[in-house]
Amino acid sequence: MEPVYKRILLKLSGEALMGEQEFGIDSKVISSYAKQIKDVVNLGVEVAVVIGGGNIFRGLSGEEIGIDRVTGDHMGMLATMINSLALQNAIEKLGIPTRVQSGIEMPKVAEPFIKRRAQRHLEKGRVVIFGAGTGNPYFTTDTAAVLRAVEINADVVIKATKVDGIYDKDPVKYPDAKKYETITYTEVLNKNLKVMDAAAISLCRDNKLPLIVFNSLIEGNIEKVVLGEKIGTVVV
Ligand code: UDP
Repeated sequence: MEPVYKRILLKLSGEALMGEQEFGIDSKVISSYAKQIKDVVNLGVEVAVVIGGGNIFRGLSGEEIGIDRVTGDHMGMLATMINSLALQNAIEKLGIPTRVQSGIEMPKVAEPFIKRRAQRHLEKGRVVIFGAGTGNPYFTTDTAAVLRAVEINADVVIKATKVDGIYDKDPVKYPDAKKYETITYTEVLNKNLKVMDAAAISLCRDNKLPLIVFNSLIEGNIEKVVLGEKIGTVVV
């Protein structure tokens, strides 16, 4: 089978990185992500990645302990850099060259985000991980993922979650929840489905960027999505 996409932007959840832990990075999860990314690179697909920071810190939860939102969001963006570096390390251990580009300049740690440079890395078969979100507070890494995808002309955003697609209600709480095979951006927004925040969804819609939501905790699923198998939900 041939991959149906040439260049993908994979959005990985920071929260899922915890695995069964309460906090931080579970080596099993990060190795599984790295292996799945390697398998996709070996199909000849160009892979860019955005990883969240929810396993370490979220700006909104900082407010609960008296940290102002902007400071908390800066902390959250730094958390995504920690995850990005851990993921880079895991992917490079498998022999795949990887670059981290940061939305907040930190030249001793990573390259700054430069669109053309990112595209060049991708063309050379390097995995590019975009850390530090958009570089701005009040955004999420979902929005950062869509923004970077649009900037680098990715064919699709593939969002990894803990459930296998988009449901009409929370499938964990409601056993009768119904899964969508396809859904439109407008429906996602109107029904207020918790897929991505509204900023990310509108950015996808305005730029006609397809989005696929699927379960990444089952190994091999990223490859299946890239090969066009119908798993998860497609938003068009
Ligand atoms: N964040 C931000 N601007 C961005 C992206 C992220 O301020 O462009 C901060 C925000 O505080 C967010 C945190 O980084 O809560 C971690 O990202 P997110 O919650 O999206 O991670 P995930 O849910 O994927 O683990």
